[in-house]
Amino acid sequence: MRQPNVLCDRCGQPIERWRELVVWCDSTKAQDAMRQYRRMEQEQERVAEESLKTGGADEWLACSGATFAELERGKWAGFVRPLASVPVVKTVSWRTFHFDCITDEEWEWGYPIEGTRINTLGKALAWTLHLQGKTWYEATDWENLVRKLFTLPNP
Ligand SMILES: [Zn+2]
Repeated sequence: MRQPNVLCDRCGQPIERWRELVVWCDSTKAQDAMRQYRRMEQEQERVAEESLKTGGADEWLACSGATFAELERGKWAGFVRPLASVPVVKTVSWRTFHFDCITDEEWEWGYPIEGTRINTLGKALAWTLHLQGKTWYEATDWENLVRKLFTLPNP
């Protein structure tokens, strides 16, 4: 089995064995980022709805050929929403640490995964599916970490 071959984000030294590795992310920060994103999304939807009720609706009617009744029924919601939505920025990075370099505090309030639990592509896939169920997953750069640890086959 190939070794992890990544550097420790704390001491800067190579992590040469899976059992020496812990991958970790600040899930609290990621949760906050998602909450902030949801608030922005709601605010933008509110603004979009507001503009439909006021002058903005005329422009919509003019360029889409929709009637105001259709807009009200939400028929064109699919067209309005993409304009109103903002991308989730994957702002929270997964870090790689030596087992001895991660602090007790990080271990306690972050989301650590021991290297031996993610040392094959199969395990990495299982973790990916598991993490996708977390409310904060989209705020993290999990894909970067997986690509750093493994050479993925072409789809
Ligand atoms: Zn280290």
